[in-house]
Amino acid sequence: MIVLKTRREIELMREAGRISAGALKLAGEAVQPGMTTAEIDKIAYDYIKSQGAIPSFLNYNGFPATACISINQEVIHGIPDREHVIWEGDIVSIDLGAVINGFHGDNAATFPCGKISPAAERLCNTTKEALYIGLSKAVAGNRLGDIGFAIQEHCIKRGYGVVRDYTGHGIGKHLHEDPSVPNYGKPGKGARLLPGMTIAIEPMINEGTQDVRVLKNNWTVVTADGKLSAHFEHTVAVTEGECIILTQV
Ligand code: MG
Repeated sequence: MIVLKTRREIELMREAGRISAGALKLAGEAVQPGMTTAEIDKIAYDYIKSQGAIPSFLNYNGFPATACISINQEVIHGIPDREHVIWEGDIVSIDLGAVINGFHGDNAATFPCGKISPAAERLCNTTKEALYIGLSKAVAGNRLGDIGFAIQEHCIKRGYGVVRDYTGHGIGKHLHEDPSVPNYGKPGKGARLLPGMTIAIEPMINEGTQDVRVLKNNWTVVTADGKLSAHFEHTVAVTEGECIILTQV
């Protein structure tokens, strides 16, 4: 069931979004050669707590950290740890959320560590562009398929694989609500977008094929071919006009 939010509830979600975006910004700035993913996770945790919020992902289905931190061929759900050091040239996807006033925010971005290859840069740029193209279709009256189709087209044209096994999602009092928001689809198909819908749009784009697998830790999703992957996400509220990006500092 899709839960529509009132104006007041969307205002409350702005606060969760602001804190989520602030934590992501700080975590991204900490992506430096020699940092461990655990150190970056701690920065995000401390910021979210300092704002009186709670990390949305911590203990969610048993997830042990504030942020999912996924490096290079890792697509999503990388688990921060002290052994995992980031090196110059890595691309680091950070995904995190915060809950406050009973509402969640959720956002992600892929950050370069120092100088990255032109191929990695192109992948990150295309994925970020795909997110904003998706956001431009998140308008009342459009359908979910319009968002997915626009994202898919932008990435496939550039020779990338669009991950299908994981999707964006509704968000509000729960981190994951209906509907699923796939990064593929057909124009004019799927649920109609209504004012008051709050959704997380999050293209996960692979340098190679769309195929992914889950590591033995039962969390970390990696590309099946070992090539790079990037991930960008915003939480937005649908209106009659442009969507409101809630995950903004
Ligand atoms: Mg999400």
